[in-house]
Amino acid sequence: MTSCDIAVIGLGLIGSAALRHMSLSFPNLRVCGIGPDEPDDRKTHAGVFSSHYDQGRITRILDPSQVWGALARASIQRYAALEAESGVKFHHRVGCLRATDIPEEIAEIDACAERERPPHRLLDAAGVKAAYPFLAFSDAFLAWDEKGAAGYINPRSLIAAQLKVATDRGTHVIPEIVSSIDCLGAGLTIRTREGSVLRARKALLAAGGYCNTLLDRKLELQTKGHTILLAEMPSEEIERLRAMPAIISAFAHDAVSSLYMLPPLPYPDGKTYIKLGLSGRPQELPAPEPYFDAIHSGRQLLDWFHSDGRRDIAACMRTALQRMIPGLKALSYHSAPCLISNSAHGKPYIDALENGRIYLATAGNGYAAKSSDEIGRIGAMLCAKNEWQSDLNREDFRAVYAQK
Ligand SMILES: Cc1cc2nc3c(=O)[nH]c(=O)nc-3n(C[C@H](O)[C@H](O)[C@H](O)COP(=O)(O)OP(=O)(O)OC[C@H]3O[C@@H](n4cnc5c(N)ncnc54)[C@H](O)[C@@H]3O)c2cc1C
Repeated sequence: MTSCDIAVIGLGLIGSAALRHMSLSFPNLRVCGIGPDEPDDRKTHAGVFSSHYDQGRITRILDPSQVWGALARASIQRYAALEAESGVKFHHRVGCLRATDIPEEIAEIDACAERERPPHRLLDAAGVKAAYPFLAFSDAFLAWDEKGAAGYINPRSLIAAQLKVATDRGTHVIPEIVSSIDCLGAGLTIRTREGSVLRARKALLAAGGYCNTLLDRKLELQTKGHTILLAEMPSEEIERLRAMPAIISAFAHDAVSSLYMLPPLPYPDGKTYIKLGLSGRPQELPAPEPYFDAIHSGRQLLDWFHSDGRRDIAACMRTALQRMIPGLKALSYHSAPCLISNSAHGKPYIDALENGRIYLATAGNGYAAKSSDEIGRIGAMLCAKNEWQSDLNREDFRAVYAQK
């Protein structure tokens, strides 16, 4: 049986960040990370999945939520040092255009730009046309064109960078799936599906949408299926869209209320795709939420990841994409499933659970990729030292248990 001081369970964006921060701040602690690699074939895989099997996640500071903005800013400030130490590039400064014709949102983003002051310019529809001739917005639109560090990160590469630094510093990684966590005596006994048994004093649970599968007392954590569309780009379109930023847009008078889009990015199959998804603000949308399917069981999770997501939503995105980039010539379109886990209050859960040995850093609410380094850092400090080391209010991040 292996033993360690702290086990980090789940090596996605948040868990891998926590592992690195523990390796930097507590070199004398024996820390172990447990989590499987990405499956080779999603359609036949029978294990767990994640929210990060992709090539692009938007990163930006401009965020109507002060808390999310602060988490993003703190994370972004460390990207360059992490790239330098790991030798892995994951951050691409292509900018992020945030457009809307919804009056309340215009006021909200304007206030946020005034408060946060990220490097940006405010464009009207004609300004957008001049800066990005391939994009079409009606005259009612305003767009904040964020520059500086805004753009996208490659989530697979970010995790590779975090794990490289952590393992270079001696952290042990077990690429297996945890099947149970039992509080026994002064510590925890952690078992994996593959048969390993680990004794740990404490654990930091960062298993994303799978956290509840490992907890006796369940969290208020809504696991939701999310469909993405991938539009395959020919070389002429890659050239025409070379200056395209990441885009987040909301629409006052449209079947699609909000979407996000990445510029053409190379994928592991050798092709280049524009990736887009429909969003909303999960915590504020009236039920039923149009773009997300609630997932209640492990069986449903498997079925969801073996599917291609929802066809009706993919069709909606295809229409929206053609409208935003008129004349776009895609070689092919396909959709894919992804997963979002929402907390009760719309912010991550970073907390100690009631047994005092299991800590949580989870619930990305669809926003955590860019901010994962800071969420992981705060979770690592809380778990290792039992201290809240952040200027953000600890109460905002409390775990909420599900009603029985
Ligand atoms: C389509 C899509 C687009 C998104 N776009 C953006 C964006 O543009 N910008 C942004 O900031 N955020 C974005 N997000 C959100 C972001 O990707 C998530 O918030 C983030 O991945 C959450 O990180 P996590 O570490 O909590 O979960 P994950 O990244 O899912 O990692 C959880 C890990 O836990 C592991 N695990 C699960 N069960 C077990 C177990 N039993 N034992 C061991 N390990 C286990 C999994 O293998 C996985 O590696 C997007 C999400 C989706 C789905």
